[in-house]
Amino acid sequence: MVQLHEMILRDGHQSLLATRMRTEDMLPIAEKLDEVGFFSLEVWGGATYDVCIRYLNQDPWDRLNKLKKAMPNTPLQMLERAMNIVAYWNFPDDVVNKFIYMAKKNGCDYFRIFDALNDLRNMKVPMQAVKENGGHVQACLSYTISPIHTVDYFVDKFIELKKMGADSVCIKDMAGMISPKRAYDIIKGTKEAGVNLPMDLHSHYTSGMTGMAYQRAVEAGADILDTSLSPISGGTAAPATESVVAAFQGTEWDTNYNLELLIECRTYFLKIWEKYRHLHRFDALKVDPSVTLHQVPGGMLSNLIFQLEEQGARDKYRQILDETARVREELGYPPLVTPTSQVVGVQAVMNVLHGRYKVVPKETKDYCRGMYGKPPAEIHLDIMKKVLGPKWKEEVIDCRPSDLLEPLWDKKKKELMEIDGGSLIKKEEDVMTYILYPQVGLKFLRGQAVAEFTSDALPLPIDHALTRAMVKQSFPEVKQLWLETQPPEKRGGPVQIPTEFQVEVDGEPFEVKVIPQGGFLVAGAGGAAPEKPKDVEGGIKSSMQGTILKIKVKKGDKVKIGDVIATIEAMKMEQEIKCEKEGEVKEIYCKEGAPVSSGDLLMQIL
Ligand code: MN
Repeated sequence: MVQLHEMILRDGHQSLLATRMRTEDMLPIAEKLDEVGFFSLEVWGGATYDVCIRYLNQDPWDRLNKLKKAMPNTPLQMLERAMNIVAYWNFPDDVVNKFIYMAKKNGCDYFRIFDALNDLRNMKVPMQAVKENGGHVQACLSYTISPIHTVDYFVDKFIELKKMGADSVCIKDMAGMISPKRAYDIIKGTKEAGVNLPMDLHSHYTSGMTGMAYQRAVEAGADILDTSLSPISGGTAAPATESVVAAFQGTEWDTNYNLELLIECRTYFLKIWEKYRHLHRFDALKVDPSVTLHQVPGGMLSNLIFQLEEQGARDKYRQILDETARVREELGYPPLVTPTSQVVGVQAVMNVLHGRYKVVPKETKDYCRGMYGKPPAEIHLDIMKKVLGPKWKEEVIDCRPSDLLEPLWDKKKKELMEIDGGSLIKKEEDVMTYILYPQVGLKFLRGQAVAEFTSDALPLPIDHALTRAMVKQSFPEVKQLWLETQPPEKRGGPVQIPTEFQVEVDGEPFEVKVIPQGGFLVAGAGGAAPEKPKDVEGGIKSSMQGTILKIKVKKGDKVKIGDVIATIEAMKMEQEIKCEKEGEVKEIYCKEGAPVSSGDLLMQIL
């Protein structure tokens, strides 16, 4: 018998609907889902926390709580990013421990824990915390293809994870590229090595081979397969639950689930699928076998395209793909999953646009320093020197990254108690929201978050060109089409078009702000730019489009070559702008928080 891990309430809509499914979409069908008898139901973690507070104005804790009450018979599971929890950076142990305690208390039974680099040191604390709180640890390995990631590599790590207390283990093929043979070999090898734990294969339909991989997986002894009910399955999401159930009927792997009951659930979710039809993308539903060649996951591809468009370099797409593979090799073959996919992807874009490692974001430096954990293979020495300089050895850490972090919980709790007279803390979990997402969390706790629209609320029909353009996230097109819909006298007025979009990296959403340029007016965005010349003597210009984070000098400061004069956020990464000559800061033309375009004058240094 094989069991299924049902993902429609988490990975399914994260893969195909930008994680937008709401709590009220889930509760009406909960009772039926609970009847099926799934091994577990994935309902929480991954991007759901972020999206709840950022776009839906929903409390993620409330969702977990209500779902557990509605589904008392099925173990509920969350995806936990080891020391990153449900965010994108490392947290200290006290926060991780507290989070696991709270998640268990609020209804999470099974914890799927993974680390992007498969650095088991990062998985130790959350795994222990789950055990201490009486939960089930499902320890995952991020799957990727490289000379380092052999069958033995995975088998050895699964042996270690068993020793560390895993209750079940899982191959996390987040890019959907595992082949039937690889699935078979790893599972067979792990079982034969004496890892007698339930073994799960998590995959996506991206490569088109996944159904075959699932068949071979169960032949090798896999106990659990990850699926998503058909209305939100296929393409960059998982194989359809009902199909897998039907395929195994009458075989030794029969799930014994009630197919009629599953079809009832299907009927329900078809309506939910329609509710978010503005998020449908045909491309995401197609298979893309090229993933097996370049190994760049589908979500990351669309993100790269978007970043290139933003930087005005769409024609460099093929080059960037090749560069991504090269950077990944140079950086020691990290699996491309949040957050390492972002590090590799952005560095590749930078290399193509500005020359190899001429511009190095802070995140690449941190990665090379070991701040994400130990890369699978050694980082190439010449790259290490380029990224961290001749004294690179002094910069590299060899401890677990979170060992460098001070406890945070008490400090942050105190901090939040002092904001708005302490009125924002209604329950302890609110402190967690504030720690995980300081700005977005604070906005949410203050009641300032606004629930995003659904398809039913869109002002224009779904097949209207503007709606399509919005969904395509292509700003120039939106601008043009919007203007066309307006009478001439209104074309100069403020318009309400979303300027914040999410792009997906491996199915994990990242926020992207579209910055209006030229004469296009958008309410509340950009603002009146201060008068500034196109160029001046000694002018320092921005080499990329982004937002000024910090200006590190002031008028009258003396600067030398190599001094950091400002930092800019571009493509979700922090970049330093360095002074290329000696002199005095005569004028500053930019301000913190303001958008800049490539070629914009930032300051004058003479
Ligand atoms: Mn996934």
